[in-house]
Formats: sequence, structure tokens, C-alpha cells
Amino acid sequence: MKRNRVALKLGLTIFLIVLILFIPYSIILEGVYRNYYINQTKTNLLQLSERYAEMLSTPSTMLMHNMLPMMAQFTNTDAVLINTQGIIIQNSGVPSYKVGTPISRDELFEMQQGKVIESLYTDPETNHTFFMVGRPTFKMKQFSEAILIFSPINGVERSIRYLQRAMLLTGFITILVAIGLILFFTRTLSRPLVIMEKATKQIAKGDLDTRVNLFSGDEIGSLAQAINELAMDLKKYRDNRNEFFANISHELRTPMTYLDGYANVLKNGLYESEEEKQQYLQIIMEETKRLRVLIDDLFDLSKMEEGKFPLNMEWVDIAEIVQQAVKQVKPKAAEKGIHMKLKILDSLPLFYGDGLRMQQIMLNLLDNAIRYTEHGEINTAIRIVDQEFRITVRDTGIGMEPDQLRSIFDRFYRVEPSRSRALGGSGLGLAIVEKLVLIQGGTIEVESELGKGTAFHLRFKVEDKRDK
Ligand code: ADP
Repeated sequence: MKRNRVALKLGLTIFLIVLILFIPYSIILEGVYRNYYINQTKTNLLQLSERYAEMLSTPSTMLMHNMLPMMAQFTNTDAVLINTQGIIIQNSGVPSYKVGTPISRDELFEMQQGKVIESLYTDPETNHTFFMVGRPTFKMKQFSEAILIFSPINGVERSIRYLQRAMLLTGFITILVAIGLILFFTRTLSRPLVIMEKATKQIAKGDLDTRVNLFSGDEIGSLAQAINELAMDLKKYRDNRNEFFANISHELRTPMTYLDGYANVLKNGLYESEEEKQQYLQIIMEETKRLRVLIDDLFDLSKMEEGKFPLNMEWVDIAEIVQQAVKQVKPKAAEKGIHMKLKILDSLPLFYGDGLRMQQIMLNLLDNAIRYTEHGEINTAIRIVDQEFRITVRDTGIGMEPDQLRSIFDRFYRVEPSRSRALGGSGLGLAIVEKLVLIQGGTIEVESELGKGTAFHLRFKVEDKRDK
């Protein structure tokens, strides 16, 4: 039962709503019906009593007295005739109104005053209820006789009982409908929810291949789809994380091996000359530096992925930043005989971004360009096209194949791992560059041809100073 609680709740709610509407409705209906019936009876009896009274005032009173039982039978009523003293002189059939006995003093008094009396009367002998109308007649302005007419209202009770039975039947049908709805909701709502609950528990346990096989165009279908997508994302995330940890351990192990080995060599004096010792110390320093760069990069990257990387956005001179970066890497390029060229459009608008991070991006791209170029030149350019800053770093280096291009922004991806490592790369540079560009609202694209060279294109919107 617990499993179908939603369906049960819905079914019971519908059932309760129907009952809440149904009970007052039937009470009101019964009241309205009873009132209507009694009013109708009253009107009829008043009219009828008027007729009787008219007939009683005619000279042929005696004939009238004799016809009373027959008339009562025709009109489906009972009539009781009272004389001037309030004694019953004729009765067509009301059991407790015995001929020769008086009626109540109050009733007689009222009728003597000329009032028409009316009341509900339950006969003590038969327990039948009647609506009663009493009307006096006057001769020469003197109270002469009175006629009491009784109409049984058992008919209304019967009709109301019939109505109550109909209501009960409706109530029963309501219960059946509610049960039907519970079953319907169980199939369409509760069952899919139970399936999804099971699937999410499986996913939470780590079974990320779990899928919910529910296909419908409604919210349930969307929820099932969302759960499947969540499972796929989690799986991708888990695979990525596993790969990431494998990569980190690998990246850390290489410098650690060097540090361990050379520190041991030095400790045990296993070198032959001072020169050799200096060489080993140099290696230890370089590996330590590499470790520090790797740890710093990892830290930055994790902050960026968490969305917690602090940016210092301000209006900066992008031409100045790019010029500085080119100037900084120029000696390294010169060592390899590579020409550094820079083309900057005159009078560039101010750039809205983090100056320090823009410099980091440029240095990374330029470092890579120098690292993966043997000869030729590196062209850096800034232009404004379609209200966008377009920054390009183009080299004439080794280039890449199309399928390699797809992964170069992935963490630790290197086309040639040993070469990259030998050239001092951590495999995190472009992943960091891409994130830095994205969090400043820009985009980065790469085009490359194996053996011919590579170009990185950055785009940033020219921001309106009034908006900032
Ligand atoms: P790394 O530290 O290895 O340079 P990056 O993330 O900066 O790591 O670059 C990833 C890989 O992309 C590099 O290992 C290299 O194979 C390739 N790559 C990056 N820039 C260039 C370039 N200008 N020319 C050719 N290959 C490049």
C-alpha cells in the first residue's frame, strides 16, 4: 500500500471533495424539496378549505354534512367538521378525532376569532403525519362551524426516502469512481514514480548505467528523461574524475621519481665531480618548479570549474597587454630564431576584462606557439570586427591533425606527451586558457594544419561603457 500512496492520496482527495460537496448538497436538496412539498400541500389545502367553507355557508348544509366523507375521499384528504361549541360532529377518517369530543381550546378560540389555523399534526393512534388547515365559517357574522382538513404528508417522506436512496446510490458510485481513479493514478502516476524512485536509488548507489524506460510526452516523461541525463552526466563526470586522478598521479610521479633519485644520489655522494653535482641540483630545481606550476595550475583549474575563480573585471588597454606579452616571450623566440610579429589596429576601444588573466592567456598561447614551432614566425594581431575584439596568435609550427584538435582543450591532453613534457608543458595550459576566456564572456577557436602551423582565435564583445 505504501508504494501507491500518491494514487491513494489523490483518490481519497477526489472522494473527499465529492463527499464535501455531496453531503451539504443532499441536505439542502432534501430541505428544499420538503419545503416545496409542504407549501404546495398548504396552498392546496387552503384552497380546498375555502371551497368547503363556501359550501358549508350555503343553505343545503345538511347535504354537505352527508357528502363530506365522499368529498374527502375524492380529494385524497380527510375532513373533520366542528360545531359552534368546538365539538366534532363529522369525521371522514382521522382516527383520533372522535365524533362528540371537543377539539383543543386554543384552536377553537383562534377559529372563533375568524383565523385560519394550520399545523403539522401527527396522529397518536396511527403515527401518520398530516398537514392540517382549519377554517371557520360564519353565518350572520356569527361563528357557526369550522372545517379541519388533513392531508397526509407521508408522500413527501416517501419521496425523501427515495431521494435519500438515490443519494446513497450516488455516494456508492462515487466510491467506485474513486477506486477507479486510484487504480488509474496508480498506473499513470504512482507506478512510474515508484520506478523512478527505484532508479534514482540505484543511481545513488553508484550504478550509473541505470536508465528509466518511461516514454511519455508529459511531466513524468520529462522527469524520466532528466533522471537518465543525470545518470549519463554522473557517469561522464565519474569517468572524467577517474581519468583526472590517474593523470594527476602520473604527472606527479615523474617529477617525484626525479626528485627522489637525484636527492639520493646527492645524499650518498654518488657523483664524480662538482659539475655533475650542480647538474643534479639543477634538475631537482627544475622538477620542483614544474611541480609548483602543476599544483598552481590544478588549483586554478579547480577554482574555475567550481565557478569560484576571482576575476578583477575593469577597463583595460588590451593593446598594451598583448604588446607586453609579446615582448616578454621575444627572447625565447629569438633563441629559436623565430620572428615575433604584432599587428594592432590603431585606436582600439577599451577592453572590459581582467588584465592579469588576459596576460596569462596571451603568454600561454605565445609560449605554446614558440614551443611547437621550429622555424618561421609567430603573428599576433588584434582587430575589431562586428563589434568584437578578435585576437589571433598564428604560428608556422608543427600543426595538428583535425582529430587531435578536438581534444586540445581537455585537461592533460597532449598530442605528443613526451615531447610536451620535455618542453616543460603540463598539459593543463589550454584547459586553463579556455576556462579563462569563457569566464570573461569570450570564445576561443583553433585552426591547424599538420606541418603548416596553428592559429588560435579569441573573440570578446566590445562592451558599452555605459552598461558597466
Ligand atoms: P602543454 O603543456 O602540453 O603545451 P597545452 O594544454 O598548452 O599543454 O596544449 C595541449 C597540447 O596541444 C599540447 O601538448 C600540444 O600537443 C598541442 N598544442 C598546443 N598549442 C599548439 C601549437 N601552437 N602548435 C601545435 N600544437 C599545439
